[in-house]
Amino acid sequence: MRPNPPEVDRAAASKAAVAARRARAAVKQDILTGARTPLAVLRASIDPAAKPEHTLRVTEYLTSIPNIGPTKLERILADLGISPAKRLGGLGVHQREHLEDFIVRWQTAKSIIEPSRLVVLAGPTAVGKGTVSTHIRENYPDVMLSVSATTRAPRPGEIEGVNYYFVDDEGFDRLIADGALLEWATVHNAYRYGTPRAPIEAALAQGKSVLLEIDIQGARQVRQAMPEARLVFLLPPSWDELVRRLIGRGTESSEEQSRRLVTAKQELAAQDEFDYAVVNRDVPDAAREVVDLMQIRSVSPASTAR
Ligand code: 5GP
Repeated sequence: MRPNPPEVDRAAASKAAVAARRARAAVKQDILTGARTPLAVLRASIDPAAKPEHTLRVTEYLTSIPNIGPTKLERILADLGISPAKRLGGLGVHQREHLEDFIVRWQTAKSIIEPSRLVVLAGPTAVGKGTVSTHIRENYPDVMLSVSATTRAPRPGEIEGVNYYFVDDEGFDRLIADGALLEWATVHNAYRYGTPRAPIEAALAQGKSVLLEIDIQGARQVRQAMPEARLVFLLPPSWDELVRRLIGRGTESSEEQSRRLVTAKQELAAQDEFDYAVVNRDVPDAAREVVDLMQIRSVSPASTAR
């Protein structure tokens, strides 16, 4: 039996462990905030003397990179053939090469998209645009979420001025006549929806970032009116999943559901017109990917703790 270490050694060891954890957390924070590139950290990790980098778990390393959440992490590790238990210093030569190639490809892909403070989130019906934008509203207070006007009636729980401005047909006609809408469209051949122009212009003038969650016709109009906008297309993980989400929501009649499925099919075909596609497998991941296009970091503990 191994003798217990003396009390002083145990205290020293636990102090050292705390210090090591803090040092690794600082490396992760540097990657998250962009103070260090993921590539620089990976390259430093080869040196056993670079303790925090060398002992950083590959899972912690990857999830501190903006845009990589738990779902993507699993796929990336599987693709690279790296066990989640590995630390950066413990990677084999080939694993290190593969990981480095992956990071280079990842950074190149991201840098092709110029960030913009105006992002339009569109996508087929029931893909979860509302859930993603609600997550952004709740976790990224620096992003102004545009509130649309609509002629449809409020659903239970929807709040005037938060979810929509609910107006009647005449009210909507007036908004159009006054030029108060940046874009508007009739969605699902039913109700009219439009984006009030003034709050967006004011927010952009104040240096804020703005997110519009609108339909595809609206996204096209915004591109015409404000070419600096980035258009993001939210994709379902699969068509079956989209159908499941649409039916599962249970807020529409079956006639309305089939009308929305027809629209969704047409809408999916429009994805190539967009600057960027985000697959909505996991809401916080998708939200983060959208917000990253504005180069804003979350301040919420939920996101920084990942
Ligand atoms: P819902 O009735 O489910 O809230 O929204 C139906 C559709 O209208 C969604 O696809 C949503 O993105 C879209 N929508 C909401 N606001 C606007 C808007 O201001 N303009 C346009 N063009 N579409 C909108």
